[in-house]
Amino acid sequence: MIKVPFLDLAAAQQELKPQLIEAFDRALDSGWFIMGAECERFESEFANYCGTKHCVGVGNGLEALHLILRAAGIGPGDEVIVPSNTYIATWLAVSYTGATPVAVEPNISTFNIDPKKVEQKITANTRAVLAVHLYGRSADMTALADTCRKHNLLLFEDAAQAHGSTFDGRRTGALSLAAGFSFYPGKNLGALGDAGAVTTNDDELADKVRVLRNYGSRKKYFNELKGYNSRLDEVQAALLSVKLSKIDEWNSRRSRIADRYLDSLRGMPNLHLPDPGKPGEHTWHLFVVRSSNRTELAKFLADRNIGTLIHYPVPPHLSDAYADLLIAKGSLPIAEELAETVLSLPIGPHMNDQQVDHVTESVQLFFRGQ
Ligand SMILES: *Cc1c(COP(=O)(O)O)cnc(C)c1O
Repeated sequence: MIKVPFLDLAAAQQELKPQLIEAFDRALDSGWFIMGAECERFESEFANYCGTKHCVGVGNGLEALHLILRAAGIGPGDEVIVPSNTYIATWLAVSYTGATPVAVEPNISTFNIDPKKVEQKITANTRAVLAVHLYGRSADMTALADTCRKHNLLLFEDAAQAHGSTFDGRRTGALSLAAGFSFYPGKNLGALGDAGAVTTNDDELADKVRVLRNYGSRKKYFNELKGYNSRLDEVQAALLSVKLSKIDEWNSRRSRIADRYLDSLRGMPNLHLPDPGKPGEHTWHLFVVRSSNRTELAKFLADRNIGTLIHYPVPPHLSDAYADLLIAKGSLPIAEELAETVLSLPIGPHMNDQQVDHVTESVQLFFRGQ
């Protein structure tokens, strides 16, 4: 039987192997491994890709978000609005600064933070909204920007899952004061290890993040801030430049797979499909369906050699890590329902048509056979 791994990471590197080896050799031969020409080059390429003035390479996506918030002066006593359904990193970045994450529920069909619900959670301590372009679909940045302007809040993006997604003709990373990207290997643009970046059009914020990522120093051994060690190393930067040249092609392949899923799975009983938004708004980092039968569906697919995953089984407020916030079970019902019903089908640029057909036929068989 055809095998469909959830994501075939090896295939991506295989396709680019000669170029990746060449990039690695270049970094190796330079004899310079932290904060050099490769990092600078990738920063300028990625800023150009996103359409921002600046890109600052950092150690990972969580640090990208954390350094943005620190650079913006967010700290203890402040509140930052975050989606109730996201990867926990979004919340952790806020907690790292000493501020408190305040959860706002999503729209259940876009999975993104519901701008209409943001206002209800604004208090005198609210400083910012950290929107997430979840699963690759850009959040409603126009509505969020309007609310933020009205209440004098900063707006940031967690773009860890949305490299290349657009909103109103502009790319993610350029839709707010600053955005944090992750290049974790499984993301649409992935390094061969941990890596991340901050994009912004703001000179001052970019400068502050540059200083914070490097021990708070601008000049070696002279420290103006209590900074961090969170840098994008030369080897990863060189590899990322190679991967960046493929992102648009790979995103369009994801999009074609998503279209086939959407077309062939429409109308199944007890299966909710994701809302694709306008063309370009979704880059399909994940193809997430909802079903009250998701456990049986996942097992049925596993028996047919199809890998699936759950993003995410526990919403941040119910995780042990956030027990201290005392957010009771039942108080964020949409996030809780999503955690109980979502299932991610395989999607990736290296899935072939046969594999896509095997997934759609198997899902159809599951729902028809019930
Ligand atoms: C992956 C991810 C992060 C964190 O990125 P890392 O590089 O793993 O630190 C943050 N937010 C979201 C939504 C993510 O998916």
